[in-house]
Amino acid sequence: MNDAQSRKSGWFSGIRARILLITGLSILIGFGGMTLFYFHQDDAVILAQGKRTMGLLASGASAGLQTAMLSGNAQIAHDYVDNIKRVPNILDFQILRVDGRVAFRDNQTIDAVNAFLGGEHFTRRPEAVRAPAELSGIKASPIGAPSGPIGILTGPVGIPPGLLAELARTNQATFEFSTDADSEPILTVFQPIQNREECHGCHAKDSPLRGVIKMTTSLAAMKGEIHSARAQTLGVFGLGVFFILWLVYWAIHRLVVVPVGRITRAMEEVAGGDMTHQVPVLGSEEFVRMARSFNLMSAEVEKSHKGLQNERDKLTTIILSAREGIIVTDQTGRVVLVNPAAERLLGKSAQDISEEGFVGLLDDPGYMEGLLNSHDKVMPETVVYNSRVLQVYAATIRAVDGHPVGSAALLRDVTSEKRLEERLRQLSYTDGLTGLLNRRRLDEVLADEFDRAKRYHLELAVLLFDVDHFKKFNDRHGHDQGDRVLQAIGSEMRHLFRALDFPCRFGGEEFCVIMPNTGRTGALQVAERLRERVELMKVDALTVTISIGVATLPLLDVPTPEALLKAADEALYEAKQGGRNQVCNATPRIPRAESGTGS
Ligand code: GH3
Ligand code: MG
Ligand code: MG
Repeated sequence: MNDAQSRKSGWFSGIRARILLITGLSILIGFGGMTLFYFHQDDAVILAQGKRTMGLLASGASAGLQTAMLSGNAQIAHDYVDNIKRVPNILDFQILRVDGRVAFRDNQTIDAVNAFLGGEHFTRRPEAVRAPAELSGIKASPIGAPSGPIGILTGPVGIPPGLLAELARTNQATFEFSTDADSEPILTVFQPIQNREECHGCHAKDSPLRGVIKMTTSLAAMKGEIHSARAQTLGVFGLGVFFILWLVYWAIHRLVVVPVGRITRAMEEVAGGDMTHQVPVLGSEEFVRMARSFNLMSAEVEKSHKGLQNERDKLTTIILSAREGIIVTDQTGRVVLVNPAAERLLGKSAQDISEEGFVGLLDDPGYMEGLLNSHDKVMPETVVYNSRVLQVYAATIRAVDGHPVGSAALLRDVTSEKRLEERLRQLSYTDGLTGLLNRRRLDEVLADEFDRAKRYHLELAVLLFDVDHFKKFNDRHGHDQGDRVLQAIGSEMRHLFRALDFPCRFGGEEFCVIMPNTGRTGALQVAERLRERVELMKVDALTVTISIGVATLPLLDVPTPEALLKAADEALYEAKQGGRNQVCNATPRIPRAESGTGS
């Protein structure tokens, strides 16, 4: 990710936001689950408490009613019922007979007891009670059931079928949860009133129960309290989450973000080139170690950087002061380095070289490309450029993994070397005393010219001459004087012969001239002219003469250059024998006729 992207990514990509997000989600999942579980448990506890309270109230009412009945005060029962109905949250309170009707509101039981006892023991109520549904106060009862057979508690304020038998069997209160017409929760308790031994004084033993107390209470208030408790719990939970997140944020900021930021800034400074930047060694153990490691690393980097700088400075000095021209390009071919020697050797400014590019270095793009494509060959090319002889090395610069990262050219001025080389070559071919070609060169030239003449059927002449009586001359005038004569002969030869001819010193006071494209006639004329020149030549008022032997192709049908030279030597011998100071021509030998007679 580059700088711009990292800046753009914003706060949410930071370590703070990520840890806060993870922490927040963990708290929500963990605490949220716990809260839901707690709410569930709380509901169960509150409802159990409600049931217990209702059960106690119902059993207390049952006991109180039985006490009143046994003491003969049955007439206070309906007042008792009315008082209980006034208890807050009690929606309905009914005492039902086993026939399902509301007790203590008509004369049915009084008449039955009087009949059981015989006589008017209990006074009849003056008027019949109103319908139980109108008296119940319950707006709608989901457990209300239609009337059923006698012996089962039924009717508008009755109990579900089958419950009476259940109550008689268990003698335990039974609870029913439901909702009223406004969908508010209600709880109804059915408390059995047993037909005990004490009751048999006035009532028959026909039923195990004397009746059932049915009490209904509203749970709306309890529900409200539960909701209020939940709201408070959620409020506390929210505050707790906020506080925890704030604490986590603060801890991350203080313990992680600030130290990381400090080290990051230091890294940015170092990356920007300030190798001396050090991170303060602060914070927790991990950051202390990180800061120490970073400081050590930046110190090492600085050391290496300085070392590299020194090496680079050395290299720059070498490149700038080098006598060789150096031109370097990057991998795109752009010229990135031109040293002063390159400018001097090419006679161009660095800017011109850069503009012309690497391939335009020697004004011949194909040449440089060819040089580069010759797979970095080690042997340099020699070219003449800007009146200099330049050795040109060209190479592709490669990275460690082998891929090309640029090109380099090295130009070496070998002009004076080439001159010296040429001079040495000439010296190796030249006779030191006369300045003519020496014997070694003579042999080479004679071999070449002989081959050429034979191959193309050309004429070729060899003149071989020797100074006459030179031993005596030396003896009479001294060796140095003899040398001066030899030098003068050399000088005459240089002036006399064509540029195409090869005048050589054969050895001692013997000389040889190879004359390409020259036949017998021409050779004899030149030989005679040479003889005359030497004869007329005066060296310190002294004169010498020479004898010349001439051998020519194609007159002579000789197979080798040595044979041609030998023929010239033989002609020379003839000239000596003939009296010296003369020219003799080698003629083909006429093979002796075979003596066919045998005499
Ligand atoms: P001829 O006419 O038969 O040739 O008589 P010549 O005396 O020249 O006989 P020869 O060729 O045998 O003698 C060669 C002499 O040339 C011997 C030597 O003193 C002299 N000589 C050879 N080389 C040099 C040289 O480099 N300098 C001088 N000064 N003399 C040389
Ligand atoms: Mg000689
Ligand atoms: Mg001689």
